[in-house]
Amino acid sequence: MEFETWWLLALPLFFGLGWVAARIDIKQLVSESRRLPSSYFRGLNFLLNEQPDKAIEAFIEVVKVEKETVELHFALGSLFRRRGELERAIRMHQNILDREDIAPEQRLMAVFELGQDYLKAGLLDRAEELFAKLGGTSYEQRGLKYLLEIYEQEKDWEKAIRTSRMMDAITGESSAKDIAHFYCELATGELTHQRYDAALAYVEDALAMNRKCTRANMILGDLHVARGDSDAAIEAWKRIESQNPAYLSLLADRLLAAHRKVGRESQGIALLRGYLEQYPSLDLLNVVFQAVLETAGTGDAQALLRDELRRNPTLIGLSRLIEVQLAEAPVERRHDLELTRNLIQQHSRGLSLYKCDTCGFRARQFYWHCPACHGWETYPPRRAEERDLAA
Ligand SMILES: [Zn+2]
Repeated sequence: MEFETWWLLALPLFFGLGWVAARIDIKQLVSESRRLPSSYFRGLNFLLNEQPDKAIEAFIEVVKVEKETVELHFALGSLFRRRGELERAIRMHQNILDREDIAPEQRLMAVFELGQDYLKAGLLDRAEELFAKLGGTSYEQRGLKYLLEIYEQEKDWEKAIRTSRMMDAITGESSAKDIAHFYCELATGELTHQRYDAALAYVEDALAMNRKCTRANMILGDLHVARGDSDAAIEAWKRIESQNPAYLSLLADRLLAAHRKVGRESQGIALLRGYLEQYPSLDLLNVVFQAVLETAGTGDAQALLRDELRRNPTLIGLSRLIEVQLAEAPVERRHDLELTRNLIQQHSRGLSLYKCDTCGFRARQFYWHCPACHGWETYPPRRAEERDLAA
């Protein structure tokens, strides 16, 4: 009895469905929904709900089922690379390259992307091979940029020079300043292996690229010292004043040592005091202060610090002055001085660092090549406190 009732209710529904089916091309609907697999919508849904991991799984499903989704391959590939999942990124981009039915522009893009995957994975040889394939294509300039990055990492300065020159030929810009540094790197390498003539030739190349390259003159001075000619070293270093006097502070100690070597210590100190007068600098002050302390005693050294503090009031300078006073202070004053010194040192800790102009990376050591942003000569030869004062 119940069975029959069910049939009676269902019959009009079947008629209704038939009526709808006649008006909509069900075949077309079915084929369209096949073209976009359900996992695609699932993936979109996960993305909208900010569940990227589940979204990726769903999109991978689509990529497996639908071989034609090149754009989705690219999107997933760069997403994986950004997340550091390099193996997956490589697989995505390699999948595209393995196909024969893609457009030439898509093939270039796949080579470019795969090169970046390998570079990020530290597989420099493979990355280099891929970027080199982009020569003469619409990706050439972008490829050269990465090639340069690879050669800098590998410290292959000859290739870095060639690549920079190729880039300049395309962009019309000048990398002369950077190329001068590449020659300086080559010169330093030759100098450490005591091949002085080769080092000298590279120093000259650096100066030919950029006559204001202070680093080249610094290396030239080191070269003369290595050859036992302190007078020539002093002359080379003194020429930095006409290039960029701020860099004199970086070699103040070397200048003084060279003067001492030829028995002209007081002349060296006078030279540095003259520089300090004209180009105030904490590094320079440090070297002059030590020299005065050793040769003329604490009275003169303190007078020097007080004069300098009046001109350029810095915490680092003040801390040094208290340090000297502490050494001579009677026992009952020591405790207070120590307190003051510790407090100042605590507050000036970050102020004694060098700071990259491009990325802001701070370092105790001076760098010609920023370890963080890989820019060349982005560190001014000044401690953070002096730069904050000048700003
Ligand atoms: Zn930097």
